[in-house]
Amino acid sequence: MIEPMKNFATLEEDIINCHKCKRLINHCKSVSTEKVKRYQNDIYWARPVPGFGDQNAELIIIGLAPGMHGANRTGRMFTGDSSGDWLFKAMYETGFANQSNSDHSNDGLHLVNAFICSTAHCAPPQNKLKSEEINNCSSFLTAYLDLLNRKKVIICLGGVAHKNYCKIFKIKNFPFAHLNIFDHANVQLIASYHPSKYNTQTKRLKWDAWLEVFHLARKIID
Ligand code: SF4
Repeated sequence: MIEPMKNFATLEEDIINCHKCKRLINHCKSVSTEKVKRYQNDIYWARPVPGFGDQNAELIIIGLAPGMHGANRTGRMFTGDSSGDWLFKAMYETGFANQSNSDHSNDGLHLVNAFICSTAHCAPPQNKLKSEEINNCSSFLTAYLDLLNRKKVIICLGGVAHKNYCKIFKIKNFPFAHLNIFDHANVQLIASYHPSKYNTQTKRLKWDAWLEVFHLARKIID
């Protein structure tokens, strides 16, 4: 039987209730009980985190997975950690978000013509996903991409998101390099380093090079 086309609400529900990857589900829960000191008083989301944003978006951002103490705590992608600080500051400066901060799920943040998806929707230990976990979650990514039918630009954050996207859509000859761009089925794909703490603190990703990704997206969309 052919599965009926999902809408955003049913897809979100399916993601939140998914238990396919036992290792990740257990990890999300254990992080929520063995809290770090700075979040001792927080009640963690501790479940798969769905995508969010403008359902008519022309810009799609594909991250890696929820941060352990970021999205896994707050329940919204890129919310409550330093990756989110970098992401939304750049999106605000280029007109893709109404504010530059992303502290908790009721902080008033709205994405403007942009939507955030993920390679996997559960936080992995040490930020490392197993290939079967990426495969398990890829049907959620393709379901989002089907629904987001006004997309013009897709930014893949980091080598894992990039590789997975290329694998799903059988794209060859698009090596990962920061600001590399590729036309695929009338959508412009932009490769970018992920704004993880590791990349920003080591200066592998500097602010100007990061902001340039969103200026490029803005130029294509406008
Ligand atoms: S990573 Fe994706 S497929 Fe795996 S349990 Fe989480 S939501 Fe389900």
